[in-house]
Amino acid sequence: MIDQFRRTYPKLDGVAITNTWSGAVDYSSDSMPFFGRLAGSPRVHFGVGFSGNGVGPSYIGGKILASLALERDDEWGTSPMIRTPATRLPPEPLRAIGGWVVRAAMRSKEAAEDQEKQPSALVRRLTPLDPTSFVG
Ligand SMILES: Cc1cc2nc3c(=O)[nH]c(=O)nc-3n(C[C@H](O)[C@H](O)[C@H](O)COP(=O)(O)OP(=O)(O)OC[C@H]3O[C@@H](n4cnc5c(N)ncnc54)[C@H](O)[C@@H]3O)c2cc1C
Repeated sequence: MIDQFRRTYPKLDGVAITNTWSGAVDYSSDSMPFFGRLAGSPRVHFGVGFSGNGVGPSYIGGKILASLALERDDEWGTSPMIRTPATRLPPEPLRAIGGWVVRAAMRSKEAAEDQEKQPSALVRRLTPLDPTSFVG
């Protein structure tokens, strides 16, 4: 990331990077958040899958969760975001292996693009398998 930053902003070359931060991002299989009641525990409500874009949408998420908890039949309590994503991921261990392979392909594609090179044909075939198509 720092190499990429230095390539993107060469004029900031002498400026020290004093702090960095990172965290886990939860992706849903269609890149959209979804909400609901936990199966077997109807008093537990969840909102997940903001896919790296939750700062704004979590405001709406809060309204949906409040209406779910209060069993309100309003626009939030009947929101189409209360759903189970349609796309299914393969079972383990295929899911873990597949995830590992596709993530490696995405890294390779990004590295090639950073050097303004064409990613290999195999990499170009693998990256669209990323369900979020974040890199595509
Ligand atoms: C590096 C990074 C960059 C991002 N950049 C952007 C961006 O530019 N724009 C954007 O829209 N989104 C961005 N996101 C995504 C955004 O931060 C999330 O989508 C959003 O914060 C999700 O909101 P949330 O309420 O679901 O989860 P969170 O914000 O993670 O909130 C969950 C809270 O629950 C608390 N918690 C966990 N376990 C317990 C427990 N057992 N008991 C009590 N509390 C608990 C945690 O401490 C946390 O405060 C980024 C995320 C990361 C990691």
